[in-house]
Amino acid sequence: MSGKEPHGERVKPEGKPLNPGDEAAPGTPGTGEDICRTCKGTGRLDGAQCPDCAGSGIVIEGIGGA
Ligand SMILES: [Zn+2]
Repeated sequence: MSGKEPHGERVKPEGKPLNPGDEAAPGTPGTGEDICRTCKGTGRLDGAQCPDCAGSGIVIEGIGGA
């Protein structure tokens, strides 16, 4: 290594909390957005905000795997 070394570099905590329906953080390799199965992408459940996707209608799921 050359040049300056970082001093006290801290790892940032995840800025965005995951929704209950998310399997991984957005941008995680091998994962992608998918329609929330709980609310079928409507973002609503029984007239209220879907708890799994927080009303977004989208969750992060693993892809290309099982
Ligand atoms: Zn949902």
